[in-house]
Amino acid sequence: MVIRLDMNRHEFELDDLIKRIKENDNRLVALQVPEGLKMQALEMMDAIEEDTSARIILAADPCYGACDLVHDKMQRMGVELVAHMGHSQMNIDSGMPTEFINVTYDGDPAIDPVLPILSMHREIAERRLSEASSKGEISEEEAQERFMDAVGRVSPLKGAKLGLVGSIQHLHLIFDYKERLESAGFEVEVPVGGARLSFPGQVLGCNYSGDRDDIGHYLFLGSGDFHPIGLVLHTGKPLAMLDPYTGGAEEMSFKRIEGILRQRFGLIMSCDEAETFGILIGEKPGQMRRNLALRMKRKLEKHGRKGYLMALEHVGPELIDFYPVDAFVNTACPRIAIDDSVRYAKPLLTPFELEVVLGDKKWETGYKFDEIP
Ligand code: SF4
Repeated sequence: MVIRLDMNRHEFELDDLIKRIKENDNRLVALQVPEGLKMQALEMMDAIEEDTSARIILAADPCYGACDLVHDKMQRMGVELVAHMGHSQMNIDSGMPTEFINVTYDGDPAIDPVLPILSMHREIAERRLSEASSKGEISEEEAQERFMDAVGRVSPLKGAKLGLVGSIQHLHLIFDYKERLESAGFEVEVPVGGARLSFPGQVLGCNYSGDRDDIGHYLFLGSGDFHPIGLVLHTGKPLAMLDPYTGGAEEMSFKRIEGILRQRFGLIMSCDEAETFGILIGEKPGQMRRNLALRMKRKLEKHGRKGYLMALEHVGPELIDFYPVDAFVNTACPRIAIDDSVRYAKPLLTPFELEVVLGDKKWETGYKFDEIP
């Protein structure tokens, strides 16, 4: 069964889920729906209950990714199967049988509006490529200068190809777009990432492992700036965006990334004298980086500072601001520190940023995005 909601042209492919529920005679199933699709959750529940003898419980907590799978707490409620909608499988085990439900969007915008941006970005990539091959080693000063220009920072570049990526609900169109862009004269690569990703061209807010040295610039098929910000922070490469919902095209501006980097640098500086740190460990199955947290604690101790390990399911200012520490380092979802830090009363750093505070890593040699592999 495919449910098609004309209101927003999303398709939910429920056939495999219904077959699995019937085969296993599941009686209690948890349905997990991403935030943007929660308005349609009740309709989904009706559809599954009508077609099977299972009862559906909506896992109504916020859900922003497959890192956040329903785990054993619902097992204690008697849930036998989790139906997770709109995200793809990751290299994690939540301890619960889980069926992933594809959600696709049929918006198919023309590429014309994005072509001028792509041509401009290709020129930047080609210029950087020729500079890299003619210059050889660059000095630290030059590296810093380039770094402040964010996308001009030092990264090994061996080509100027266009990397074509997208968010999951648009990936069924990715090879079709590859052909269209090739017809428009671009050499296009659909990058294939690591085990956290399931599909060619897929990116997550915490994983851009498909990036290659021969990709000089990117086109992101999707809406919003969440993935584009992460991809540019991670790669330092120019990026254009084509929005399947509106058909609009724009670029992730260098200014925006510079602004984020300046903010990150300010937070690092503000921790210069910090003595005590709360080290946050995420309890969600795909965000749990206990070893990284322990490594940060050891580092702090080595430098004569103090780290307190704190485990949370959700991270929010109301849950941590009151602890009498000088700052926090976050090992849960990397985007909490990058995107939400203004909400916190105390500095909230990524592990790399803490290493810069401690002098173990250098800011001048390039910002290192906190990627979860
Ligand atoms: S960016 Fe954060 S919420 Fe999204 S998949 Fe990664 S860890 Fe999960």
